Amino acid sequence: EAKRLGTGSIRLFNPEMQQSINRRLHLETALRRAIDERQLELYLQPQVNNEGSVTGGELLLRWQDEEFGQVPPSEFIPVAESSGLIVPLGNWVIEQACVLLQQWANDTKLCDLQLAINISPKQFRQAAFVDYVASCLQRYQVPAGRLELEITENMLIDNVELTIERMSKLGRLGVRFSLDDFGTGYASLAYLKRLPIYQLKIDQSFVRDVLTDVNDAVIVETIVGLGESLGLEVVAEGVETDSQADALRQLGCRKFQGFLYGRPQPATHWVERFKQSLAISDV
Ligand code: C2E
Ligand code: MG
Ligand code: MG
Ligand code: MG
Repeated sequence: EAKRLGTGSIRLFNPEMQQSINRRLHLETALRRAIDERQLELYLQPQVNNEGSVTGGELLLRWQDEEFGQVPPSEFIPVAESSGLIVPLGNWVIEQACVLLQQWANDTKLCDLQLAINISPKQFRQAAFVDYVASCLQRYQVPAGRLELEITENMLIDNVELTIERMSKLGRLGVRFSLDDFGTGYASLAYLKRLPIYQLKIDQSFVRDVLTDVNDAVIVETIVGLGESLGLEVVAEGVETDSQADALRQLGCRKFQGFLYGRPQPATHWVERFKQSLAISDV
């Protein structure tokens, strides 16, 4: 709220607002440098099927800054979005995903795994997006079906026709789309049949209280039913306990992601541990 000062000038921001604007500006500068200097890291969190076997994982960005410490994606992704830095950053994530998938393709223990990455609205709206993904897949000779792009419902509502066109082009290449945080956005269900969507990711807010809040249980059951009717895979995210997993299973869920199965870990580290665990179960 604008405040009249004694001098007759108007102060537009209160100190807290000024502080948060300053932090944002500083974060943007630091993020720009971190991207240039390749200081961000990709962590991988596994996804498992109903038998508990790992089917793949999701790549999640991590940023440890000298000045700001560990900055969570919930803080730096919006900065990257509003500053446009999401384009070089997002392109780097796409390329790194393809690098990983290329390594996996040459390994019999890893070649069946899926890899999911998150795509921001501004990134998706770039004219060159489809070509960039296609050229990365080609450069690293990655089977497109191994790559999953996680988008959110809200991305579908603006410029529907363009979104459909882009998703269809990538879909024809074999790329899979997953609707992240499903149930929290505003997209109409009618889009689900017009778009080449492969998977619905039940938002963790419905998973958290699935045992105690009957509304959440009903929402989960409804999403699972929707997935079944439309032939879409459904995965629950944010699964932390065995009892949540049991409840989700009873509601028909067959794919899971969450701390119960593994926290996000540096991708290369995760791969080594995963292969070790397979070697142990071989003998
Ligand atoms: P998301 O895509 O929905 O990712 C799931 C988030 O839930 C991740 O948070 C993950 O660490 C966290 N999580 C996983 N299992 C559990 C669990 O059992 N319990 C709880 N409480 N949390 C769990 P994270 O890594 O902090 O990422 C937050 C969001 O930032 C992501 O949400 C995604 O929207 C965005 N993000 C992360 N990496 C990228 C990226 O490379 N590009 C873009 N555009 N966005 C990203
Ligand atoms: Mg995600
Ligand atoms: Mg999510
Ligand atoms: Mg999200």
